[in-house]
Parts: sequence; C-alpha cells; structure tokens
Amino acid sequence: MTRHHTYQYWDKPLETMPREDLAACQTALLRKAVSAALRTPFYRRALAQQGIRSEDAITSLSDLKRLPFTTKQDLRAGFPYGFLSIPREQVVRLHASSGTTGTPTTIYFSKEDLSRWTGFVARSIYGTGCNNTDVFQNMITYGLFTGGLGFHSGGEEVGMMVIPSGAGNTARQFRLMQDFGTTVLHATPSFLLHIESKMREEGVDRKNLRLKRAFAGAEPYSEDTRVRIEELLGIDVYNSYGLSEMNGPGVAFECQRKDGLHLWEDGFIPEIIRPDTLEPAAEGEIGELVLTCLCREATPILRYRTRDLTGFYGEPCKCGRSHRRIRRIKGRTDDMLIINGVNLFPSQIEEVIMAIKEVGANYLIVVEKDGALDRLTVKTEVNTQTFMDDTRPLNALKERIRKTLQASITINPKVELLESGSLPISEGKAARVLDSRPPAGG
Ligand code: ADP
Ligand code: ZN
Repeated sequence: MTRHHTYQYWDKPLETMPREDLAACQTALLRKAVSAALRTPFYRRALAQQGIRSEDAITSLSDLKRLPFTTKQDLRAGFPYGFLSIPREQVVRLHASSGTTGTPTTIYFSKEDLSRWTGFVARSIYGTGCNNTDVFQNMITYGLFTGGLGFHSGGEEVGMMVIPSGAGNTARQFRLMQDFGTTVLHATPSFLLHIESKMREEGVDRKNLRLKRAFAGAEPYSEDTRVRIEELLGIDVYNSYGLSEMNGPGVAFECQRKDGLHLWEDGFIPEIIRPDTLEPAAEGEIGELVLTCLCREATPILRYRTRDLTGFYGEPCKCGRSHRRIRRIKGRTDDMLIINGVNLFPSQIEEVIMAIKEVGANYLIVVEKDGALDRLTVKTEVNTQTFMDDTRPLNALKERIRKTLQASITINPKVELLESGSLPISEGKAARVLDSRPPAGG
C-alpha cells in the first residue's frame, strides 16, 4: 500500500546522521549511561566485577562488550529501587511492564527522561506521515503500561488531536471515530482485527470514517495479519516496537516503506546474540535482541536481554534514514513450545492461518497431554459468510487448514473451526496459547 515517495523526517540531521557520527554520538552517550549506572546499587557491584569503576573505561563502542548483561530476573531482584540512579525526589513518574511473563518490573523517569522518550515516539509517528491535521485515537491501555501514555505524549508532541480512548468498548470507539473524524489509530493487532469484525457486525460503514493509518504493536503479528488489517480497514498499518525496560514505545518503528523497523540508535545500542552461547549472531541471523538504553538518567539499563527474537537488515533503507532496521519480532525465546520434541513458535501458526482468507479475527493454540504424547489443537474463528449450515465446505476448509499447517510446522494439529466472536478477546496483549501440560519434570 506504500505510495509515498517523499519521506517525512521529524529531525532529519539525527535520523539520517552518517554512521561514523552516530557511533561517536553513541560512545559519548554510553559513557554517560555507564556513569549513571555506577550510581545504582546493582551496577556498582556488577560493573566493579568487570573492573569498571568509572566512565573512563569506555573509550569506544567496542568497550560495550565488557559490560555485563542485564536480565529480567536482575530487574526483579532489584525491585524496587536497586536500579535507581537519581534521588527519588527527581523522579516524576514510574511505569511497569505488563507482566506477560511474570512479576512486572518498574522503570523510573525524570522530567528529562520523559521528554526524550516523547521525542522518540514523536519521531516515529511523524515518520509515518502524521501531523497536526490528524485526529489520533489511542485505543490502548492507559496506566502503568507504557503504550498508553507513551503514544499519548508522542501524539501531542506531533500536534495531533489526541483522543485518550483507552482499550476496549468497541461501540464507544466507533462513536468517537465518527464524532471526531479520527484519522489515526493505535492498538494491538489483535484488537484491530477484532474492531473490524465488530464494525461489520454493528453495521458501521467505513465510508463514514476518515481512518488513514494505524500503529500496531505490543505483541507479535505476521505480515499477513498486517495486510489483512490494511485491506479490511483500508488503511496503512505500521509496526511499532518497544518495551518498558527501554521506556516503552518509540524504540523501533517502521517508516513509510514498511520494510523493517528503524531502531533509534541515538537512544539505544542494539546487539543480536545467540541466546545459548551469548555470542554475537552472524550478520542477518535471527537471535535475541540486546539493548542498551542511552536516553535515561533515572533508570539506566545496560545490555538488556529482551528475549525478543529478530535480526538486522544488511542494507540501508531507501528512505534515507541511517538507523539500522530490525525484522518483525518472531516471538520471545520463552514463547517457544516443544511439541513431541518439535520446536514451535506461536507466530509460525499465525503466519499460516492469517494467510487463509476464510479465517476470522481470532484464534487460540491449545496444547494438552494425551497419554504420553502432546496434542496440538488450533481453534480458529472463521468469517461469518463462511460459517454456513452446510458442513461440507466447512469440513473441506478444516482439512485445508490442517494440511497447510502440517506442511509448514511438521506437526499434525487438530483444527477446530468456530463462529466469529466465540473466542474471548483481550483488551491488552492477546493470550494466544493455552498450555495445560504439567510443567517439565513435574
Ligand atoms: P511484558 O514483557 O510484560 O509484556 P511490556 O509491556 O514492556 O512488558 O512489553 C514489551 C514486550 O512486548 C516486548 O519485549 C515484546 O516481546 C512485545 N512487543 C512489543 N512490541 C512488539 C511488536 N511490534 N512485535 C512483537 N512483539 C512486540
Ligand atoms: Zn526507512
């Protein structure tokens, strides 16, 4: 759908900075980050173990390798103030992760931190073509989750009129869209799919809406899901990646070419490692993304193991930005299912089923024990038009989905087709997997 050939930059010198200048800028910021880290109880100890007692240990980017990794467990163990680098009185806000994989972690912001964060989100939003003529409906959870307030401030910074609608309540969302002529949405991809099927159900005519684009993130989704949302809603969809440990949204974002996400390297240093050996991945290889935050004084975080799986693009982007691009996130290292010895990421299933046009908005992956074996069931909604009383076409569809899945994931799943709207829809991150097997060893 990309039809733009002149690209918009929020801050052209920064976004197109030559790589050598970017490296110099990163080195200077890394020294500051290390100096801030040395003021926290956790890093004072961890850095001393590597012989690092002052920022002077950092003279070039290759010194990054001497810094210790930080894991989510470290952040949890440091709760509540083990990673705080400034006096509590200078902290103006805190946020927490969604807690998708366990106890949430807390991140603190100074005034300066908030304004830098807003800058990264504004840059990302503006780069997709938004400006003060836009009306922005932020259909994501507000509160401790960073997606709400992060996009809210970024949207205001760009000059859009922001509607802080929050997640859920589709009827009210449609009313707001119509009353205020919303042009831009932000939501999880699962909520965008849901909203489209609700729209049909409630007879909302797309012609009465002014929607042009949407930002979708917070959870993995496939290229086919993007295309599906774009076609159904007649809009451009841009992938937005972030995590609370690195502020929240505004870490990496697609430009108008929609070919990989630019990771803002004046705010974060990315590395991609092999999660088993912790060695750098080969050029272009998919591995675990590790991020060092260069833009925060209250909670400096060095070499954070995100557990998110992605790879770098080799080529620079045709839009002219010099910041490297990462691939669509494939999932988290801890999302991986092992089914009768075969490794499977939920995203592999989504890739297959979302490419089948009869498949509806929602699906669920169920894994159970069946005697000694694991059994995989994929429950998927099908479009209302498809769900007829005549079961023959349905059975054929079921068989087609099963075969296509088996060919791609090498596991023979059971497939169940459900009427549109029968699976629960979550307002935040969708829960796609129900694994009822007893934990390994238990
Ligand atoms: P939690 O780790 O508890 O979910 P966050 O709310 O900070 O906490 O969510 C950040 C995580 O969400 C990322 O580490 C990543 O796994 C996922 N995520 C965010 N944006 C995307 C995206 N565009 N594509 C895939 N996954 C994403
Ligand atoms: Zn680009």
